[in-house]
Amino acid sequence: MAKKAESKKEEKKIKNAWLKYDEARMKEVFEFNEGYKNFISVCKTERECVTESIRLAKEQGYKDLKEYIKSGKKLEAGDKVYFDQMGKALALFVIGEKPLEDGMKILGAHIDSPRLDIKQVPLYEEKEMALLDTHYYGGVKKYQWVTLPLALHGVVCKTDGSKVSVVIGEDENDPVVGISDLLIHLSQDQLQKPGAKVVEGEDLNVLVGSIPLKGEETDAVKKNILKFLEEKYAIKEEDFTSAELEVVTAGKARDYGLDRGLVMGYGQDDRVCAYTSLLALFEIKKTDRTAVCLIVDKEEIGSVGATGMQSMFFENAVAEIINLTGEYSELKVRRSLANSVMLSSDVSAAFDSNYASVFELKNSAFMGHGLVFNKYTGSRGKSGSNDANPEYYARIRAALDKHNVSYQTAELGKVDVGGGGTIAYIMAKYGMEVIDSGVAVMSMHAPWEITSKADVFEAKEGYVAFIKEM
Ligand code: MN
Ligand code: MN
Repeated sequence: MAKKAESKKEEKKIKNAWLKYDEARMKEVFEFNEGYKNFISVCKTERECVTESIRLAKEQGYKDLKEYIKSGKKLEAGDKVYFDQMGKALALFVIGEKPLEDGMKILGAHIDSPRLDIKQVPLYEEKEMALLDTHYYGGVKKYQWVTLPLALHGVVCKTDGSKVSVVIGEDENDPVVGISDLLIHLSQDQLQKPGAKVVEGEDLNVLVGSIPLKGEETDAVKKNILKFLEEKYAIKEEDFTSAELEVVTAGKARDYGLDRGLVMGYGQDDRVCAYTSLLALFEIKKTDRTAVCLIVDKEEIGSVGATGMQSMFFENAVAEIINLTGEYSELKVRRSLANSVMLSSDVSAAFDSNYASVFELKNSAFMGHGLVFNKYTGSRGKSGSNDANPEYYARIRAALDKHNVSYQTAELGKVDVGGGGTIAYIMAKYGMEVIDSGVAVMSMHAPWEITSKADVFEAKEGYVAFIKEM
């Protein structure tokens, strides 16, 4: 007996999630990741994430909250609704049995990722080559974006009110675009520059054309590209002014490693947390307190704008739900938010043995060790971080232990090496309990990021446990 108890204790100490899976579970982990890989292959902009999330939500029986707002039809426990904020942020709710002012259980993540945005006046010709000028979005190592197959995703909004969706470079028959790098033979000076200056922001120009339009004297290559845009999309040069076009890595997410244990894909920061939060919510059919999945835009540039977490849109959606579940009052809105609990999910830095010196091993996130919790983030003395309450963290630990979820705790590297922020502090302003959690990512913010399939699965499991137990 004693021995049995001991071996059970041993079992609890298993840190690598792969070791706890039996054959059936292993299959489940791999299958779940097929859905994930598809999501990040199809969703490379915040808009595409919202569109696909709504499509998936509708399949699960979610309805547009705006329809309820319009009709005034009351919401009841078990109803599932979504609130679409300008097609770039989304809040989904499973209405609970308890009144909203008892608080909500919120899973939050962001769906914007580092990329190169096309400028508003982008197209030019230089020595019979047509190029698009860009302005990078979020924190990027600019030298990583050259000599890669890149794709163009986004929308062009025209003065007649129509909107053209563009995706070029994803179908295998599509052309790709890209940014050149200087040949090594002439790079003597370039290679002496510091990493931040090897490739500079203004030089991230995307090559899009090389065939001149016959009969044109000047800018014939540019004119040929404009002709193509006009014919294929009915877009004119001036329409770039009111466009939102993003240059992203071209191609699908792939299995990574000979054992297929990892996923290589674009924009896993933070779509890995968005997808797992969404899929966790889909598993919730009935809940005591209202369950929420919140996927937001603009985290990478400070959560600003009407679609970022600092926008009032979520608070407004909560107010609408209060109004549709009973008698409205502002006090109820405040109580709903203050009594809520949240997992603010964003990716964590996975330990990388190639760069071991920036990590403090005891407090590092390891791939395959499950959902990562950051009690705090921030930089230079926790500056800018939400420092979660240990009372709250303990309750979450109990919930995860009960559901046998693998999880770990980490900081973003060594104390003085760097840092980062998330949306946690914004939600904490309402006085709710918030903790940072998420999936460990290798090569974060690179055109191709790496995650562990075990961590992707454990994140989803952890989010389900959170909604069920908290
Ligand atoms: Mn992030
Ligand atoms: Mn990021």
